[in-house]
Amino acid sequence: MHKLFFVCTLFTVLSFNVNAQNLSLDAMIDRDIASWLSTYKALHAAPELSHREEKTAAFVAGELRKLGFTVAERIGKYQNAQWNGYGVVAVMKNGQGPTVLVRTELDALPVDEKTGLPYASQVKMKNDAGLDVSVMHACGHDIHMTSFLGTARMLTELKNRWSGTLILLGQPAEETGDGAAAMLRDNLYANFPKPDFAIALHDKPELETGKVGYTPGYAMASATSIDITIKGIGGHGSAPEVTKDPIVVAAQVVMALQTIVSRENSPLDPAVVTVGSIHGGTRYNIIPDEVNLQLTVRTYKAEVRKHILASIERIVNGVAATAGIPADRAPTVKVSEGTGSTYNDPQLVDRLVVAFKQALGEDNVVKVPPIMASEDFGNFSLDQKIPTTIFWLGASDPAKVKASRESGVALPGLHSALFAPVPEPTLRTGVKAMTSAVLELMKK
Ligand SMILES: [Zn+2]
Ligand SMILES: [Zn+2]
Repeated sequence: MHKLFFVCTLFTVLSFNVNAQNLSLDAMIDRDIASWLSTYKALHAAPELSHREEKTAAFVAGELRKLGFTVAERIGKYQNAQWNGYGVVAVMKNGQGPTVLVRTELDALPVDEKTGLPYASQVKMKNDAGLDVSVMHACGHDIHMTSFLGTARMLTELKNRWSGTLILLGQPAEETGDGAAAMLRDNLYANFPKPDFAIALHDKPELETGKVGYTPGYAMASATSIDITIKGIGGHGSAPEVTKDPIVVAAQVVMALQTIVSRENSPLDPAVVTVGSIHGGTRYNIIPDEVNLQLTVRTYKAEVRKHILASIERIVNGVAATAGIPADRAPTVKVSEGTGSTYNDPQLVDRLVVAFKQALGEDNVVKVPPIMASEDFGNFSLDQKIPTTIFWLGASDPAKVKASRESGVALPGLHSALFAPVPEPTLRTGVKAMTSAVLELMKK
């Protein structure tokens, strides 16, 4: 009896504490949600392209400074020296303990918003080519920034519940895949405390608001862009015998590339080789001198990526040689630096899942499968040396998610001109989940 009574009492005390903590966090969220909604709408209406996040970064830095963080701005060095790094690093030291980095992206996309929302973006900016393009937060980085600022506010008020060093990092140029690398190149981990853990969230239109999703292990693929130029010997369309037709060679290359994933790669190692662009020729009756192709390669493992890149080079050169293209007209294959894969440290994921379930309820924390899209957040792990994880934040009305699952018609996805996360419940969950994650890692 006594023993049972003790267990019951202990359980009651424990659950009371958990509830009290949750209630206070919920009460704080209730208090602040109106101001977050206006922040979100203001950010949504004022998106900036990658490499040009000047005002967004200044706003985020200013908000963090008001909360008492030590803030550094303009962090990031690109290989293209014409671009400025608009990275923001905010540090708050609060006694002994781990260093935890929380990251948000700052940039938006060249998308012409078609949501019809009252706070829809009307912004146009010059892109890298100097052309005016419409700009939209079509990936939800405005949701991420607002959740991040809300989390910052919660954690400054809850300083008695955590100890260690908190780093809040605003990363530019996620969409172009070079922002995290630019910040690291600018000595991020030498000039600021190196984290023991790094975490981030990303909204997910396929997931209901109120929920978060997690993926242990590989969650997103590496992405590598490749430019191929197939050079032939041009001439009159009526006299192919005196030419080396690069259009036919390009067609053979496109088909031969399909054998890399299907015949050379283990079916247990996910990989994609997509030819996304092919351009050659000007007229019906002219065999051109060259054809240009653009490819994307996606893999989880670095060794799979390496193998695929070597195969592409071998196939392109082999097909050209087979067609009799002379060595001095050999194809060129230019491989971009690319983005590494995103690997969620399974032990870190386990810890966060416990915290999420406690904060949001068991049913609101779901495991989701990995995808072949990519993210440059993995760069902050320094090749998996620092445990990192990115988790998914549900962003769509549950009724719409249900209807979409039943009909098989997808909801407007990330990067769509129609992407419209439901702000209030998404921000509430984003702040609650991220705050709980940090408290778990830095609890006293
Ligand atoms: Zn995106
Ligand atoms: Zn994104």
